[in-house]
Amino acid sequence: MSMQNPVFIPGPTNIPEAIRKAVDMPTIDHRSPLFGEILHPARDNVRKVLRSDSAEVFIFPSTGTGGWECALTNTLSPGDRVLAARNGMFSQRWIDMCRRHGLDVEVVETPWGEGIPAERFEAILSADRGHAIKAVLATHNETATGVRSDIAAVRRAIDAAGHPALLFVDGVSSIGSMEFRMDGWGVDIAVTGSQKGFMLPAGLAILGFSAKAMAAGATATLPRTFFDIRDMEKGYAANGYPYTPAVGLLNGLKLATGMLLDEGLEAVFARHHRIAEGVRRAVHAWGLGLCAASPDLYSDTVSAIRTTEGFDATRIVTLAASKYGVAFGTGLGEVAGKVFRIGHLGSLTDVMALSGIATAEMVMADLGLGVRLGSGVAAAQEYYRHGASAKKAAA
Ligand SMILES: *Cc1c(COP(=O)(O)O)cnc(C)c1O
Repeated sequence: MSMQNPVFIPGPTNIPEAIRKAVDMPTIDHRSPLFGEILHPARDNVRKVLRSDSAEVFIFPSTGTGGWECALTNTLSPGDRVLAARNGMFSQRWIDMCRRHGLDVEVVETPWGEGIPAERFEAILSADRGHAIKAVLATHNETATGVRSDIAAVRRAIDAAGHPALLFVDGVSSIGSMEFRMDGWGVDIAVTGSQKGFMLPAGLAILGFSAKAMAAGATATLPRTFFDIRDMEKGYAANGYPYTPAVGLLNGLKLATGMLLDEGLEAVFARHHRIAEGVRRAVHAWGLGLCAASPDLYSDTVSAIRTTEGFDATRIVTLAASKYGVAFGTGLGEVAGKVFRIGHLGSLTDVMALSGIATAEMVMADLGLGVRLGSGVAAAQEYYRHGASAKKAAA
């Protein structure tokens, strides 16, 4: 695998040189004011990226999965009921984690390729007159299927039912890349990690807690130690952590969030949309379709591309890696072998995206898939030339 080529997996994403340098720093005393100069701006920037005025931001040495565990254990008690849709590998894994923690999950089975069925949620929450459901779990962007769900609609469903359940959102592959409004959508806990939209190596779980989620912590009895936000709050108040922080990653996070805010979140989202749309034009030119069932569900961070019936899509990923040194994503779970994924999030430009499209095209031609060389590239080129006025190059 060549390290010169960008990766087209939906995380970890490409790391800009400046961020690599920020992560690589000498050891400092992590209980000194110097550490506070890294920690506090990083947390403030994360709050802005989450589009929240008042969220408590917590950053753990962990990954997105640890972020889920932090959300659950700090707010819920054994036997608590939670509501979730299963529409892909990540929502499935979150449901599995809830069960392993002794939570009672009401699962809404949803075809992979569809989004969260907000109207089903509304019906279930309306019927729950005793308010047994304590939290609604929503995966904003199903990275396995390339489906973006409508979180505002989930919030409307909860409100229409007049239900007090907390709203937890997995934004691991959307936050910092696609529109996300913690306050505007009434999100109680937002969960993400460092290695996707934030363009960093893996190693941080990043969360925003609303006041309501903070209050739920007072009565929650699920066991928690490492992920206890009460210990973390005390640590932050004293410029530190309850244990050793990942100082270099936090320094990188301070820079990465600053870069996103400097580019402007709207510009970041527009860039992701433009790059994604170019990829989609290419997919169409190849005569292929997406796993996402309809255009309103298309993800701007990852495209899961269906190949022809009976063809093992994983072969595309394997050959791209061995012959051209380029990484694409395989299909996961129910869509394993049926799709391959092009990740298009993080530090990426139109021109970088073209190299991924060109590679996928070569591989499909090599495998006899009847894709005409240049067809997808040309479709994307036309779009990148004319499709969007803003042409500001990404970092
Ligand atoms: C990547 C991802 C995760 C898992 O995050 P890790 O950092 O690998 O633990 C969870 N949810 C979604 C939607 C993801 O894309």
